[in-house]
Amino acid sequence: MNDKTAQTIYACATAAGRAALAVVRVSGPDCRAVLSGLGATCPPPRQASVRRLCHPHTQDMLDEALVLYFAGPHSYTGEDVAELHLHGGTAVVASVLEALAHLPICRPAEAGEFTRRAVLHGKLDLTRAEAIADLIDAETTAQQVQALGQLRGNLRDLFEGWRNALHTVLAHLEADLEFADEDLPGGLGRSALDTVPELRAAVAGFIGDRRGLQLRAGLRIALIGAPNAGKSSLLNRLAGRDAAIVSARAGTTRDIIEIAMTLAGVPVTLIDTAGLRAAGDDIEREGVRRALAAARDADVRILVSAPDANAELPPEEQHLPPPEFHLINKSDLGTASCEASDPESSDAASVHGVSALTGDGIDEFIEALSAFVREQYASSGSAVLTRQRHQQILTEVLAALDRALASQSRGLELAAEDLRLAARALGQLTGAVDVEALLDIVFADFCIGK
Ligand code: GDP
Repeated sequence: MNDKTAQTIYACATAAGRAALAVVRVSGPDCRAVLSGLGATCPPPRQASVRRLCHPHTQDMLDEALVLYFAGPHSYTGEDVAELHLHGGTAVVASVLEALAHLPICRPAEAGEFTRRAVLHGKLDLTRAEAIADLIDAETTAQQVQALGQLRGNLRDLFEGWRNALHTVLAHLEADLEFADEDLPGGLGRSALDTVPELRAAVAGFIGDRRGLQLRAGLRIALIGAPNAGKSSLLNRLAGRDAAIVSARAGTTRDIIEIAMTLAGVPVTLIDTAGLRAAGDDIEREGVRRALAAARDADVRILVSAPDANAELPPEEQHLPPPEFHLINKSDLGTASCEASDPESSDAASVHGVSALTGDGIDEFIEALSAFVREQYASSGSAVLTRQRHQQILTEVLAALDRALASQSRGLELAAEDLRLAARALGQLTGAVDVEALLDIVFADFCIGK
């Protein structure tokens, strides 16, 4: 452990701004000395105690705070930790932080440093540390459920299970290689290798399922269809419904209109690419290009058509993946004409008649869309791929397993080497190997106080 990690650190763990309470966290070997520097005796471990905090130089009283002390290793970081539960006024918090800055035995924490120390002291593996970041960032219930599953260790258990399985295969291979001339049952190594395709399939299936990544990032749902079908009107209708909770962060950009909402606990951005068909100058053409890219990259597409609008999809939209939903808009104009207008939508799409004008069928459609989102994307808390970091490492694992399977006919030694690489890569997921090298990557998106 280098010097930096031996220092005592502090940071405000709660959000900036006026509040009823604010918590300043201190962690490190000089935790008790920091408390006494603030004129407070250290309370017994885990016993909430009221303490008067004073400035170390002026002796001015700063606050009457509730102080908690956790003696390491029985703490979040594994070190001695103190939590100062202050009154949450901005002056109180600023004065306590300023007072701490006067104590030479401690320094301000860097982003993610508390959790980083927890990993270094073996309190958390990397996947659980990542879950803490996700839990803090979770804005919807489905994201919360997913992060809690990971915090309970579902990914750690899965990845470590795979790594243990590989170690068993390797042990058999090595025994086979080592004692080739002795009386071991023949084919020990080969029969161990027979279990690798199953593991490979599990890893491939796991990487192939992108729903966890989508839930973390939020779903993108695009409205596509011919001009005048009523996409903008529908977007406004959907945005105005209670069933779809529209958040204040809805923003309008020049080329794409987006509305943020929550469906079935899943964060959703609804995208309207309307008004971009008649691309005249270069800037408009760039707008169309971006709108199309947004529609292509969306997770779900909703095709909108109407009896009084061109039934043909604009040519540039005809190459998009098939839509999951087909809305036949303007039902107020009469059912017969709606049916007549049915364009070449995908057979697989769920079809709904609606009217953006009167609101007819909109609630039923939101219900169907919510059910789809819930079924496809809401988390059950089971282990799913949630991060690019995992995806990259697992792609390496897959390649190494493939090489091992391909090379087995040329000798067990070659296969063993690739299996070792695969096991090592799996260890990087949890931090069982190379943890120091991985910390900067994992903690890049943490904030101060975590
Ligand atoms: P977009 O080009 O697909 O975004 O279509 P707009 O939302 O701009 O709508 C095109 C025209 O259709 C406008 O004049 C709307 O007022 C009208 N419109 C949209 N929805 C309905 C509807 O449900 N019923 C009727 N009668 N007119 C609608």
